[in-house]
Amino acid sequence: MPLERLTMLVVPTEGPATLLVPELEAPRVTPRPGEFSIRPWGETEDPVGLAAGLMGRAERAALGDTTWSVFLMGLQAARPEVRFEPAAGLMRELRMRKDPDEIELLRQAAAATDRVVARLDETVFTGRTESDLAAEIAAMTLEEGHEVATFTIVASGPNGASPHHEPGGRTMVRGDTVVIDFGGRLGGYCSDTTRTFSIGEPSPAVAEAHAVLLEAQQAAVAAVRPGRAAQEIDRVARRIIEDAGFGRHFIHRTGHGIGLDEHEHPYIVEGNDLALDVGMTFSIEPGIYVPDRFGMRIEDIVAVAPEGVDPLNRSPQRLHLVE
Ligand code: ZN
Ligand code: ZN
Repeated sequence: MPLERLTMLVVPTEGPATLLVPELEAPRVTPRPGEFSIRPWGETEDPVGLAAGLMGRAERAALGDTTWSVFLMGLQAARPEVRFEPAAGLMRELRMRKDPDEIELLRQAAAATDRVVARLDETVFTGRTESDLAAEIAAMTLEEGHEVATFTIVASGPNGASPHHEPGGRTMVRGDTVVIDFGGRLGGYCSDTTRTFSIGEPSPAVAEAHAVLLEAQQAAVAAVRPGRAAQEIDRVARRIIEDAGFGRHFIHRTGHGIGLDEHEHPYIVEGNDLALDVGMTFSIEPGIYVPDRFGMRIEDIVAVAPEGVDPLNRSPQRLHLVE
């Protein structure tokens, strides 16, 4: 856990791996004899000094990307001869391609969010605040099988133009467009899906923009196949949105990898020429954000399959009409 008390798995180039863990957290660790030994450390011990000692005779050491800087600086001071590097270079290769068991868990997580979307179709939005609806969506996310609901974005009316809007006290009214983006963890793996709702019939401007977005999102999903560069998927979505005149309103990359982390490699973005490979899993989530008026996004998780694409989310991508 990322806490001020250090938990760190130390893997030397030779010899056994050791999990340094605060003594009070040690009862929660499942022992894995043969994989690593557990070294609980007490409140008066120096865990960084212990880690520095367990590293062995290293010239280089890779550290988890999200390790707190205070621990890195302690290790650098204890072992000035060692060159420390981010572990991303190693971990990216290990984690980017999911094995079938991992894809199955991501599929289950996606299916659970699809069931929440189906329940939202039957939910009354009018007269409720964003935060009230967000709390209900988080509860549904748990009811449908997630262990934890990690985040819930409900962005209504003009708030929708901010892609990561924090749900607040705005009361939703007829005529609003509402962006709902939510996810959690199931079996340790993340879900993340977005659908756009209209309270009552959408205005012609919203209907037109959503038709463009739907075309862009579906074309990008259909473009996924092994060997294609990640940036090409971004280009497919972006070209359709640009050609329709909304280019300046699509203000983020098309997608991100997903697995144990909500956001991980591969990133579906211009400049990433990484060739997609079987087992990679990522989101495809173009959006259109018109300041002061409305926003919309459609997000699905997909897996790269030998023959093309394996969409993990299955709920309809259309503009969802609600009351
Ligand atoms: Zn999302
Ligand atoms: Zn996402």
